Amino acid sequence: EQADEVRVTPKVKENKLDPNTQYSNERGSDKDHLYIVIIGHVDAGKSTLMGRLLCDLGEVSKKTLHKYEQESKKIGKQSFMYAWVLDETGEERVRGITMDVGRAQFETKTKKVIILDAPGHADFIPNMITGAGQADVALLVVDATRGEFESGFDLGGQTREHALLVRSLGVSQLAVAVNKLDTTNWSKERFNEITKKLKVFLKQAGFKDSDVTYVPCSGLTGENLIKPPTEAELLNWYDGPCLLDVIDKLKVPDRPVSKPLRLSINDVYKGTGSGFCVAGRIENGIINKGDKVLVCPSKEMAEVRGISINEMSSNVAFAGDQVSVTLSGVDMQNVLIGYVLSDPVQQVPVTTRFEARIVVFNVKVPITKGFPVLIHHQSLVEPANIIKLKSLLNKSTGELLKKNPRCLGNNCVAVVEIEVSRPICVEKYKDVKELGRVMLRVGGTTIAAGLITDIVNT
Ligand code: GDP
Repeated sequence: EQADEVRVTPKVKENKLDPNTQYSNERGSDKDHLYIVIIGHVDAGKSTLMGRLLCDLGEVSKKTLHKYEQESKKIGKQSFMYAWVLDETGEERVRGITMDVGRAQFETKTKKVIILDAPGHADFIPNMITGAGQADVALLVVDATRGEFESGFDLGGQTREHALLVRSLGVSQLAVAVNKLDTTNWSKERFNEITKKLKVFLKQAGFKDSDVTYVPCSGLTGENLIKPPTEAELLNWYDGPCLLDVIDKLKVPDRPVSKPLRLSINDVYKGTGSGFCVAGRIENGIINKGDKVLVCPSKEMAEVRGISINEMSSNVAFAGDQVSVTLSGVDMQNVLIGYVLSDPVQQVPVTTRFEARIVVFNVKVPITKGFPVLIHHQSLVEPANIIKLKSLLNKSTGELLKKNPRCLGNNCVAVVEIEVSRPICVEKYKDVKELGRVMLRVGGTTIAAGLITDIVNT
């Protein structure tokens, strides 16, 4: 029972190594790890769907379920009980929204799937970027209810922005849950109407048709999540895979283990023993217990005293793993979210200026020289300025349209130079994809996404 309780607690900021968990020196399972981010409009049913899936797969103990059932009855929102499996804090329960990037996991036939949950509320897009920055694939949840799909998809809805964001953060494979289809009596016409609209849009957003799979389902009733359909109305016209099998078929991207170590830090916290811990994803390379690593951009040496993957201690971790690393030899105050642990010899580039090819989504006033933005680079958020507009490119062919344009409006593609207020660790996109992408935001809106093409002054 205890172990189950620990597994469904997604967000423990302090003491990530729980004394009640069994630790082993082996990597948890032989299955490939796949990191998935859940995206979609607020109220599309993301939390309910993932909660139900975890419960049906036996990832949640009866005791925990019972607790949530009782509590949800008490406040008269019984349907929320599944959502709570992912939302752990009282504040979120009262507000009925998922705020943080929580974590839970489950297994398919061939994979261990780690969920980076995404919040559905517009204010929380910076958190979603953190989740999406670590994701291999995404699950897009849309509400099939009449009128609801439309309000999530049309202007102001988050379906489009989330899909654009994950694509620009490098996610290329998508499972689409056409959810709450129970509200339409499993209508084939409604399913087709929704998938037709999404296909056109997702293609424009840069997803290949063959990398997107649509699944009719209901998170609330559990229909077509982990088992083939049982509803006669759905069986009439659907003979495709259930959501779990669709996720199982998603491809694990290549893990560049032979490249020099890059671990981007997304959390720093005091551990249980001596030293302190940093959490993050290994983008490149391998990390071993006992290794000397360089903390960048501050360039201080540290020693790796311990490693844990999904709450299990390990002597080694590889590119693609999301890990916690216990460090010694540096002051915790000198290690910040957004820093990178680097191979000490083949170091990560550190710079205040870089060139990027950006796609502009959404600006109220055109971008001109000096334009201030916040750049999001992995978990880092820094003020920056677009200091040069170098060229405007043809959106589909990438050919040069104009050198030194005066301004950049919506939907254009351009090469710009960006200056950040202090040195950060970046890579060219062609060298390390994950460290070669940036998002540009202004006043709470994502205005552009970019790929780093050159590093100006290292
Ligand atoms: P999120 O904001 O995307 O995480 O959405 P929630 O999971 O909180 O669900 C929003 C609302 O939709 C809640 O009232 C749920 O009970 C309801 N809901 C979720 N999934 C389904 C479903 O499959 N069918 C129906 N009919 N309602 C659902």
